[in-house]
Amino acid sequence: MSIPVIGVTPLWDEDRDSLWMLPGYMDGIKRAGGMPVMLPLSSDEVLIEQICRTVDGLLFTGGQDVFPGLYREEVSAYCGSVCKNRDNMEIALFSEAVIKKNKPALGICRGIQLFNAALGGTLYQDLSSQFKGRIHINHRQNPPANVPSHTVMIKSGSPLHLRINVESIEVNSSHHQGVHELSSELESMAVTEDGLIEAVYMPGRKFIWAVQWHPELTLYDKNSHILFDAFVGACNGE
Ligand code: MN
Repeated sequence: MSIPVIGVTPLWDEDRDSLWMLPGYMDGIKRAGGMPVMLPLSSDEVLIEQICRTVDGLLFTGGQDVFPGLYREEVSAYCGSVCKNRDNMEIALFSEAVIKKNKPALGICRGIQLFNAALGGTLYQDLSSQFKGRIHINHRQNPPANVPSHTVMIKSGSPLHLRINVESIEVNSSHHQGVHELSSELESMAVTEDGLIEAVYMPGRKFIWAVQWHPELTLYDKNSHILFDAFVGACNGE
C-alpha cells in the first residue's frame, strides 16, 4: 500500500521569528491515509523543483494576509500583516507544482485567497469595511474556533456537492479577508448567505480545491473528513 506524501506549507510566527504548525493540518492528512511533511519556508528555485519531485500533493495552510500587490492593489489601512516569504514560496509552489505539474492541492483559509490571487482574482482586504453582504454574518467568530458559526450553501453539481451530498453545511469562520473578484479559472463551490464565496475548485484539473473555513480545527466532523479524504485520495491517484 502506498502512502501519498503531502507537502504542508509552514506557518510563520512573526513575534517569535519562528516556523510552527497546527496539529490539525497534519492529523487531517494522517487520518485520511497520507503522510504530511512540513515544508521549509523557501522560494529557492532548486528547492521548489525538488519539492515538486518529492510530494504527491500540497496543502496550502492558513496564515497572514496575501500581499495586495499580488492582485494589483495598494495596501489598504485595514489589511493585516503579510508574510512576503510565504507569498513568494506559495506562489512559486502553486505555479510550478500545481499549475505546471498538476499536483493535487487543497487550500485552507489563506489558501483560497492565495489560489485566487495567483490566478488573477482579487480579495477583500477587509470584509467588515469593504464587503456589503445581503445579510450580516460575522466571519470572525469569537473563540472557540473549533465550532461552526455560519452556514455555507453548496452549489448543486459541484465536486464538493458530489462528495458531501447535502445542500448546506455549518462551518467555522476565522477570516477578515475573502474572495472579491473570482479568478476566471476558478469556479465557486459554496457561498454564504451574505453572498461570499467560501469554496472553489479549478475545473479540468484532478484536484485543486480550496475552502475559506478551517476543517483542520473540526476533525470530529464528517464533512471535514470528507474534504481531507477527497484531497488525500486524489494525491493517491484515485
Ligand atoms: Mn466565513
